[in-house]
Amino acid sequence: MLNRRHLLRTGAATVAAAMIARMPRALAATYDLVIKGGRVIDPSLGLDAVRDVAIAKGKIAAVGENIAGDAAETIDAQGKLVVPGLLDIHTHAGRSKEGPAMLLQDGVTGWVDAGSAGADNIDAIAATARSAPQIGRALVNIARTGVISPAGELHDLSAANVALAQGAIARHRDVVIGVKARLSANVAEANDLEALRRAQEAAVPFGLPVMIHVGQNYSPMRAILPLLKRGDIVTHVYAPAPNGILDDQGRLFPDVLAARRRGIIFDFGNGTLDHFDWATVEKATKQGFWPDTFSTDWNTQSRTTGVVDLPNVMSKFFMFGMPLMQMIACATVNAARVFPAFDDRGTLNVGAPADVAILELRDGTFDFVDNYKGTRSGKQRLFPIASVLAGKKTPARA
Ligand SMILES: [Zn+2]
Repeated sequence: MLNRRHLLRTGAATVAAAMIARMPRALAATYDLVIKGGRVIDPSLGLDAVRDVAIAKGKIAAVGENIAGDAAETIDAQGKLVVPGLLDIHTHAGRSKEGPAMLLQDGVTGWVDAGSAGADNIDAIAATARSAPQIGRALVNIARTGVISPAGELHDLSAANVALAQGAIARHRDVVIGVKARLSANVAEANDLEALRRAQEAAVPFGLPVMIHVGQNYSPMRAILPLLKRGDIVTHVYAPAPNGILDDQGRLFPDVLAARRRGIIFDFGNGTLDHFDWATVEKATKQGFWPDTFSTDWNTQSRTTGVVDLPNVMSKFFMFGMPLMQMIACATVNAARVFPAFDDRGTLNVGAPADVAILELRDGTFDFVDNYKGTRSGKQRLFPIASVLAGKKTPARA
């Protein structure tokens, strides 16, 4: 790169360099940060090529080959992937003050806490979201208690209180961007459909989506999916039977494809228990049914579970033949489309907030686990290397 020291070494530039040296540094540097020579993959731009990414005033200033101009700081990204900051739409990052900073080290520059809290306890989650380094948002659980594990928060339907949920949304319009309902039988039993109706009743007046957690539901998908509207989200999409997305012969229910056609979003939602097994992922993806978004269902313990981090969760899909570009899309632009709060995220487009994830794609033998202690070996895995948030490099993971 061409910096001030290089200029000083060339006689012809000595005068110019002396002038630059007298100027304040902020004026002399064209860019605050340039990420040099990485393989830039940005599905929102249709780009997969070696490029530099230049950042000024917290925004993407340019993406190009061998960007000229002085930079206050550079990151050498040769041999690395440079992608838009990752967005994780199903986490429980709001549960602890440490969560958001940990996620940032994983390349996650935007997160959604998906229903950790209901009307009774959303204030604490909202406070964590507001003080997070990166953009953090929350879905309010239709059950006023939020998640009760393992007993389940919807066994008593009176917990699904529409007025209280609406009050929580109204109190936290800047943070609450949707409503969550956990519908698996161990949470809701036969209350699943009524709980979902109440979630919609709470969300619709505010124009917000509902995210449902499915898996071993009391009711079949063909009864649940018609209660969803365009833009709603189904998380844990590859949860195994009973009442998953596949029939007894392993064929995808036509209702699921119909729901996707009318704008329902299907999210992976890794988690730790009962949320996916390899057989369901394999059968569904062989029929062309890929997730729209990845998510981790993350909490501060996730590094020691089968989740590890969002790049690890994404890497599970190499084994099923998902192209890298599509994989990055699921964790960036596709996730950004789900919530208007992320409208200008998930892209390296010029003018966008300069949120960038630097990843390394390593070849080798890597073991991945499902939620049933099933292990499969893959040949590639993505590792988080560094994150840039609003143009600032953030501390790497220990
Ligand atoms: Zn969850």
